[in-house]
Amino acid sequence: MESHTPSNFIEQIIEQDIKIGKNKGRVHTRFPPEPNGHLHIGHAKSICLNFGIAQKYNGYCNLRFDDTNPEKESAEYVEAIKDYVRWLGFERHMCCYASDYFGQFYYYAIQLIEKKLAYVCSLSAEEIRHYRGTLTEAGTDSPYRERSISENLTLFEKMRKGVYEKGTHVLRAKIDMKSPNLNMRDPIIYRIQNAEHSRFKKRWHIYPTYDFSHCISDAIERITHSLCTLEFEDHRPLYDWFLDKLGTAHPQQIEFARLQLNYTISSKRKIKLLIDKGLVDDWDDPRLMTLSGMRRRGVPPKAIRDFCSCIGLTKKDSWIDFALFENCVRDTLNKVALRRMAVVKPLKVIILNYPEGKVEYLDAANNPNDEKAGTRPLAFSRELYIDYDDFSEDPPKKFFRLARGREVRLKYAYYITCVDLVKDKNGKISELHCRYDPQTRGGGSADQRKVKGTIHWLSAAHAKSAEIRLYDRLFNTENPLAHQNIEDAINLNSLITIKDGLVEADALQTPHDSYIQFERLGYFCADNKDYSTERPVFNRTITLRDTWAKISSK
Ligand code: ATP
Ligand code: MG
Repeated sequence: MESHTPSNFIEQIIEQDIKIGKNKGRVHTRFPPEPNGHLHIGHAKSICLNFGIAQKYNGYCNLRFDDTNPEKESAEYVEAIKDYVRWLGFERHMCCYASDYFGQFYYYAIQLIEKKLAYVCSLSAEEIRHYRGTLTEAGTDSPYRERSISENLTLFEKMRKGVYEKGTHVLRAKIDMKSPNLNMRDPIIYRIQNAEHSRFKKRWHIYPTYDFSHCISDAIERITHSLCTLEFEDHRPLYDWFLDKLGTAHPQQIEFARLQLNYTISSKRKIKLLIDKGLVDDWDDPRLMTLSGMRRRGVPPKAIRDFCSCIGLTKKDSWIDFALFENCVRDTLNKVALRRMAVVKPLKVIILNYPEGKVEYLDAANNPNDEKAGTRPLAFSRELYIDYDDFSEDPPKKFFRLARGREVRLKYAYYITCVDLVKDKNGKISELHCRYDPQTRGGGSADQRKVKGTIHWLSAAHAKSAEIRLYDRLFNTENPLAHQNIEDAINLNSLITIKDGLVEADALQTPHDSYIQFERLGYFCADNKDYSTERPVFNRTITLRDTWAKISSK
């Protein structure tokens, strides 16, 4: 196999293994989600790592559903996870289910019983906890520890058949109740559960625990490197114990640090809580860092992959700054987003010296960073809209946009000067009267006269109505979970809905899952849930510049 430059400590281990011919040079990883919720940015790190390694070393990566806990899992999540692994850019994968191996897990459990390495324990959950001891105190043997092989086999068989109530018996590995590692104090390997499994319905009444099923699944699938997050480091001795005692293939478990992103919650359970409390709409709320939320928000999968590669891989927990994620999004979008015009708070502008009824079409670049993207014709006429905030009656210092007597450039069009303004009966500005300089077509002047401001605009007769949703970070604090009340951490301005926005007609031609920059306003995409021809809806993915840097440095 050709050699590569390892870019992290896991790749270093893999390179070394390949060099010494371990696993005959094979590399086979897996991504093992539990189908009890939707994927989030933390999972993306694990997906990019596992699938990325398989790609780099010409190996395989299995998408394995860890569906051993029927009480919390559903087929709907399985389908969503498959879709989003593909969306993230990992097409080729083998799909497996831990539940495919239920028969084998059962067979291996019987082997342990026959080797006197497992027993049926009839203590209650409370008693088991009590007998386990603590970090500073050794545990005590269960009174059921010395049951005979035949008694254990009979009881275990009856557990399987559904003879007993949940919680009355468990199967435990017989290891060492005095081990300094609590995970080794006769861990539970099977529980009675009567919930219906999404694939096998009521066939099974007992379900294996993660520690037991995971290592065996890895062994069955001939995984070579089983990559998991740091909290499983203390479980590794158990992983190795099961496989040693069972004499199966023996994958190597390697741990890495979880992604911890500030201003974010990335735990399925906690995200579910936000949904249940009505703080966000659903798993695909564009403010959530779920893959479905990010897609709906307009985050390109490439930006997520770039982010995962730029945060690298470590063996120590640390916080990643949300701004890093946002920069990856901006970098990607800047290259691909089509430039379009939109006006969020429309203010009418009449160009007094522009002929009534005349319409001309100006050439506007689709993407100044990509010549191949071409141009589109942008309608210009006597009545326009600009954004309300681009005019000031009493301009403060450094306000370079439109004001009475001041000249600005209308992007791609002409220089205009404001000569007068009209107010409604409440004193609010309702219309601006301007004059344009016909010599400045395209946005430049022959006499090289400079204007300080360039603003966006739309021809009134050609603009289309749209709902514009301005999204921002969901939380206004770095560690939302540090708040007792999660409500206190919510950024109340994380969604501002503009019902009467205006967009350029071409923005309505953009297919779903494509990216737009509304000039000067930010990056946007069509909402993939609520958008309709009658009511176009655009979501702001992100502003053009980081507006949070200022806030946090204050
Ligand atoms: P959650 O707490 O959100 O339920 P989990 O780890 O329980 O996360 P699983 O579905 O069991 O979720 O995880 C599938 C894989 O994704 C695991 O290998 C897990 O280590 C990995 N993973 C989950 N969250 C992160 C994260 N924040 N950073 C890196 N990997 C993660
Ligand atoms: Mg989990």
